[in-house]
Amino acid sequence: MKPLPMFPDTRRIALAAKGFMPEAEGMRLYELAFEASERGPCVEIGSYCGKSAIYLGEGCRMRGRHRLFSIDHHFGSEEQQPGQEYFDPELFDADLGRVNTLPHLVRNLRDAGLDDWVLPVVGRSATVASSWPGADLALVFIDGGHARATVEADYRAWSGLIARGGLLVFHDVYLDPAAGGQAPRDVFEAARASGQWADEGVFGSLGILRRK
Ligand code: SAH
Ligand code: MG
Repeated sequence: MKPLPMFPDTRRIALAAKGFMPEAEGMRLYELAFEASERGPCVEIGSYCGKSAIYLGEGCRMRGRHRLFSIDHHFGSEEQQPGQEYFDPELFDADLGRVNTLPHLVRNLRDAGLDDWVLPVVGRSATVASSWPGADLALVFIDGGHARATVEADYRAWSGLIARGGLLVFHDVYLDPAAGGQAPRDVFEAARASGQWADEGVFGSLGILRRK
């Protein structure tokens, strides 16, 4: 069952939020979270300023059952640091002397009316995973650090916490190497070949698996 179309105001806020989530993929996340959150909580690794969290969280809100936990240390990935390709000076906190995306996440969630459906968790992905209290997750979206070791660590840390029938979704799976780094694709394909997951296909750069 698909959710109703997203409300125009929510869509507008998602489109305006800083981030790296094309609308078509965001709408797919909205549908996936709507489906999955019937059965259990959802987790996102890599909140940044909340763009993907708005799509996922709105899916949860429309379903009205379980929530999205959105995890980030909020210091930015390697490529988002000063001098790097994806550095955004507006996200630099002069007092802290480093990138800090948390205030932007909080504001976007408030503007989208999702404070109660997206619960920010501030910390390193592996640390949060090692303290996670259960293994009943209905959806895990991996969009944190894109270095190979980081994607692998996120897969190892979180995949075992997904319930049977739950979804594991990777972002930035590029079948064309010219389109972007290949680490998420490699980890996605290794997971798919492991026999533990049913292949739910690739949509844009979303690689979607379901636990058998
Ligand atoms: N999903 C976002 C984009 C995420 S960018 C969107 O829709 O726009 C990747 C984010 O992952 C960055 O904010 C960075 O701080 C975070 N990140 C990278 N490595 C991490 C780690 N090990 N633990 C937690 N967050 C991490
Ligand atoms: Mg991404």
